[in-house]
Amino acid sequence: MVSPFSAQSPRLQLKRMLEVARRVVVFTGAGMSTESGIPDFRSPGGVWSRMSPIYFDEFVRDPEKRREAWRRAFSGVAGWTGASPNAGHFAVARLTAAGKVSAVITQNVDNLHQDSGVPAERVIELHGNASYATCLNCGLRHELEDFRASFLERGKLPACRDCGGLVKTATISFGQPMPEAPMRRAEEETLACDLFLVLGSSLAVRPAADFPVIAKRNGAKLVIVNREPTPLDPIADLVLHDEIGAVLADVAPQRA
Ligand code: ZN
Repeated sequence: MVSPFSAQSPRLQLKRMLEVARRVVVFTGAGMSTESGIPDFRSPGGVWSRMSPIYFDEFVRDPEKRREAWRRAFSGVAGWTGASPNAGHFAVARLTAAGKVSAVITQNVDNLHQDSGVPAERVIELHGNASYATCLNCGLRHELEDFRASFLERGKLPACRDCGGLVKTATISFGQPMPEAPMRRAEEETLACDLFLVLGSSLAVRPAADFPVIAKRNGAKLVIVNREPTPLDPIADLVLHDEIGAVLADVAPQRA
């Protein structure tokens, strides 16, 4: 029987790299949450194979599009919320609690890093968050539950309790610019790390796919854990085509 830590096994190499790293940035994509049962939105069976996206300008312009967006949000049809963190999320949370991880940059909108115990201020969300809503006018945060009954029972479209502005789930929609502050923070963290760990991202979408290249050019080690090959595998120091939860459960501290 081969131990998972047999000499030079990829998991052992990753464990050693994590031990010597001083500052790790974790970068997560859809593959991180498929192990929690959230389908990759780009895959067959994913949300965009079942319904067409509502573009940002349509949401702003057309009350019927807003109504449809809120119907989707409250029906859970996109499958983005209501799942639980998996072994991979919890391992990232332990690495963070152990002081290894300075930031978790994520393409996911499911709030599962926060749910697993990573402090919210260490999570940088490139595509926003589907678990709450914000006012498009003044930015005030609103909870989805505050709108659920009035929308489902009386068809009332959510509006800001302060300024009356349009309220939308806090995700970045198609046609909406990438959020400036998270993008800037993500770049700063990327430039400050000495190990950049990609978990479950196909690294196919820019600008998100630029971060591993920035890290690598800046002298950091690059590790990619993804079930499928990615375009950046050739420049990585270590690549594991494997399950994230199983890999991280082996290499992360058992407790922080
Ligand atoms: Zn407002």
